[in-house]
Amino acid sequence: MNMRHAPWLALGFTLLLMVAGLPLIASGYVLAVAISMLSFTALAAAWSLFSGPTHYISLATVAFFGIGAYTAAIGGELMPWPLVLVVAGLVGVAVALVVGLSTLRLSGIYFVIFTFGLTELVRQLVTWYEVNIKGTVGRYLFLDIPQAVIYWQLAVLTGAVLLIAWLISRSRLGLAARVIGEDETVARHAGIDTTWAKITLFAISAAFMSVTGAVMAPRWTYVDPAIAFNPMISFQVVIMALLGGTGSLWGPVLGVVPLVLLFEFLTANFPNAFNILLGAVFMTIVYFLPRGVVGLVQDWWPQPVRMPAVTAPRIVDDAVLAVNGLGKSFGGLVAVHDLSFRVEAGQIVGLIGPNGSGKTTVLNMISGALKPDTGSIHLCGRRIDGLLPDRVATLGIARTFQLVRVLGSMTCRQNVEPAIAFRARPSSGNALDETADTLLARVGLAAAKVHMPASQLTYIDQKRVELARALALEPKLLLLDEWLAGLNPTELEEGINLIDSMRREGLSIIMVEHVMDAVRSLCDHCIVMNAGRLIAAGQTTAALADPEVVRAYLGGPDA
Ligand code: ADP
Ligand code: MG
Repeated sequence: MNMRHAPWLALGFTLLLMVAGLPLIASGYVLAVAISMLSFTALAAAWSLFSGPTHYISLATVAFFGIGAYTAAIGGELMPWPLVLVVAGLVGVAVALVVGLSTLRLSGIYFVIFTFGLTELVRQLVTWYEVNIKGTVGRYLFLDIPQAVIYWQLAVLTGAVLLIAWLISRSRLGLAARVIGEDETVARHAGIDTTWAKITLFAISAAFMSVTGAVMAPRWTYVDPAIAFNPMISFQVVIMALLGGTGSLWGPVLGVVPLVLLFEFLTANFPNAFNILLGAVFMTIVYFLPRGVVGLVQDWWPQPVRMPAVTAPRIVDDAVLAVNGLGKSFGGLVAVHDLSFRVEAGQIVGLIGPNGSGKTTVLNMISGALKPDTGSIHLCGRRIDGLLPDRVATLGIARTFQLVRVLGSMTCRQNVEPAIAFRARPSSGNALDETADTLLARVGLAAAKVHMPASQLTYIDQKRVELARALALEPKLLLLDEWLAGLNPTELEEGINLIDSMRREGLSIIMVEHVMDAVRSLCDHCIVMNAGRLIAAGQTTAALADPEVVRAYLGGPDA
């Protein structure tokens, strides 16, 4: 054990003793407030586990909490208590899986509204069941569990949520969630199965919320759907998590303690104005502390800087891409029509044509972002058209975007690491940092910038980071969509040398490009498109001299 950690361990242990021992010295009101704090901490930490990194704001907290409470109300007299808690967790997971599979395709405000609607739906279903099947609205609970025991259960539960959240934050799943929160498209193209990641996290989070509901149920002697599914709980949990800051494990704890105390104070002193004050608190937090208390602390806490190691070689197989009869329409517009071409190992193929001729659409189909209407795409003999982007990425196709896409609030290193972690042959642990730094050095990013958030980089450096992320997949084929566009003459020369060096290492590349000097010096072969059709293909000088190509370019707006 490291001696530097000793004071922290001592502090942690003391805190633990204080938390565990509280019911022995406190009772009544103090214990009730402590129970409230623990249950909200468990809920807020469970909420943050999913919503924090993914930025999918869920208002379904109370749906799962209520499901847990009802499981306890119904099962409490039928089975032993530990089993009740397990069943509550399982029911929560089951509902989360069903809901997740149908809704996690929604994003932004649609997801928020759906989760709110879900709570209402569950509440109405339970009400319907109680009224029509049981013949009453609410039910009485005869679960004789002392306050102290509820408190201890919650303490263990909260510890478990924090532990699991910590483990997840260090795992590939945690990394996946952070990238999803930044840019879901990039996540897919970095090889991340985003559906799997979101559903897994949503279900884990739901399980903890349901168990919290079950543990809390015995505090009520009477429960009805309006109590168990009170939407205010969902909102309170969001406020608490936001106040603490969702970026860190300690965020929920930091947010819950002051807010539970504030809520207690407000309900005691201004019972009638409580909801109005709650709204004011919500707005203040979002306005002044968008990244929470933890964000405030992190701004003042400098991050250490480490130096990267240098270049790694690459190895390559033969024949790479075969595209046959590829077609795609958007409504009535034929963006790509009957396109066929091949890319041999180690070739750089230029894909050129006037704006709107369908070049990006071709790259989107090859990388899995779009499903072709017709035709086939084979990567090293294996058919890949119609596969999702993350599958295509792990099979060996990496891409950059025409409008550069970096994960703005993550550091350069963190931009690159997910692709390393999710590629076909992942490297892990410390190797992850080193591999990322090597790649960033490889694309010419200054070592001092490795820990800088990508949003603070210059345009060329953002393009470098994007390229490093693509190379991190160890691709067989790299798709560059106007990677050289917008660079000044010096940067352009650096960029050309960089792409040239990748060719010399044997990487196959398709580059969409308007800079003709670059096309001439880098591309062995060229494909020329106009209005979705192939108008010339072959050795670069010959293809560019083709009369139809000359006409298309001279006739087009950006000749
Ligand atoms: P290029 O990259 O060669 O400039 P694109 O492939 O981006 O061209 O676009 C080809 C045509 O398809 C354009 O007319 C464009 O407006 C259209 N298009 C591209 N993507 C979409 C889309 N997602 N929905 C509708 N139309 C699209
Ligand atoms: Mg384009």
